[in-house]
Amino acid sequence: MDTRIMVYQLTDDEKWSAVTACDRRFNGLFFYGVTTTGVFCRPSCTARTPLRKNVRFFQEISEALDAGFRPCRKCRPDLRHFEPGRELVEKAKEGMALRVDLSEIPASRESLTALSDNSLRRLFRKYEGCSPGRYEAALRIEKAKDLLAETDMSVLNISLHCGFESLSNFYRQFREHTGTVPRKFRTCEPGETPFMKEDKP
Ligand SMILES: [Zn+2]
Repeated sequence: MDTRIMVYQLTDDEKWSAVTACDRRFNGLFFYGVTTTGVFCRPSCTARTPLRKNVRFFQEISEALDAGFRPCRKCRPDLRHFEPGRELVEKAKEGMALRVDLSEIPASRESLTALSDNSLRRLFRKYEGCSPGRYEAALRIEKAKDLLAETDMSVLNISLHCGFESLSNFYRQFREHTGTVPRKFRTCEPGETPFMKEDKP
């Protein structure tokens, strides 16, 4: 379905179902404001779904602003009207977060979007300021830090559970991101907190 052609035929019911489904295909096609909060969003916004009776639909950002609504900080409808590049990056980030949740090894980042590895890398640099690999590694390291701090799992098991192909790769990445090694991170030294409160840059 080409949603861009459908836009002027969309009924409020269809817009509402796009909102409840957080359907990003409708981004840029309409906006919705929530009268109780005074905030307006893009269809894909993952903020809590409002009650329908409190929702108003707008075709253009200017209409929402004129009606006194302010842009949501989460989905930023005030940024460029339609940013396919950012959409793709967000989609890839969601895919990575899911993969890290499922403890999958990052075999191929290209499969997260229809883009080539080079194009995805270029978009990531633009919107996130880092490579996709670095972004995903940071997610994995965060998960590893939680497990080190909160469980008795061995370092080897944690590295596997966080999707690292090898222990040496895990150690290298962990040091890169936190400035320390997993065992030190976990060990409670006398007079120190059980784990580092903040990452070293
Ligand atoms: Zn929003």
